[in-house]
Amino acid sequence: MMLNHARSWALILIALVLPQTELLPVVSPVVPHTSSFSQNQNHSSKSSQLQQTEDEKSNPPAALTLSQLIKKYPETFRVRGPRLKQVALTFDDVPDPRFTPQILNILKQKGVKATFFAVGNRAKKHPHILERIKREGHAVGNHSYNHALFNKLTLNEFIDQIERTNRIIKSITGLRPRLLRPPYGEINEEQLRWARKNNYKIVNWNVDSLDWKGLSKEQVKRNILSTVGPGAIILQHGGGGVGTDLQGSINALPEIISELRAKGYTFVTLPDMLGVPEGI
Ligand SMILES: [Zn+2]
Repeated sequence: MMLNHARSWALILIALVLPQTELLPVVSPVVPHTSSFSQNQNHSSKSSQLQQTEDEKSNPPAALTLSQLIKKYPETFRVRGPRLKQVALTFDDVPDPRFTPQILNILKQKGVKATFFAVGNRAKKHPHILERIKREGHAVGNHSYNHALFNKLTLNEFIDQIERTNRIIKSITGLRPRLLRPPYGEINEEQLRWARKNNYKIVNWNVDSLDWKGLSKEQVKRNILSTVGPGAIILQHGGGGVGTDLQGSINALPEIISELRAKGYTFVTLPDMLGVPEGI
């Protein structure tokens, strides 16, 4: 009884904090908050949940996980589109002369528009490939300046990664991308809030090809086709470091497109899928 009483107070207090959330869903934010308490070593099991909620005012709470951030900022942080019979193909780590032109050739031949997340220092090195991506009607997003792990950066270093890359992309394509994909999909709440304030959208994925591991064509096909569904955002790569082998992923692409088409899917860019302008 005591516990139930304490729990309802905790829920009320949590509800008071909710105006920070974007859509104010009544129930779901409570779950991540509650589970973050249980992960926080500072909140030991002997404290009641009420005590834990009060403690949160003086002690910073444990950092939210990515799935908690997605629930808390559903308009800013996307991993899928509306449940329509459409998918978005996305290619990270471009431009790369070994792989990106091959992907562009296939997409052109198949009449498919996709979204490419460019790394600033690669765009600077291979501007003609980025120019081609844009010219052929694909969307371009920002994937940091040098593929930094954002969680290791200060806010200012993070902002520099985004803005420097956007300046380079704008000088080549004429557009400052609104879409950000953090390297490794990792971002923290402070960075996310800055992105929201500055009109960016963070876009991860819900279907992972795992192609960066150098998988075979059949493995890449299976990873995508076994998990795809309406509104899927599919992650592949269009570039990589020394030794990266994306040939399996590239060879799988025509068949992935044909099989999804046969199932009735259409292919859209992320700005089209999410209903946002590509540039800011
Ligand atoms: Zn990447």
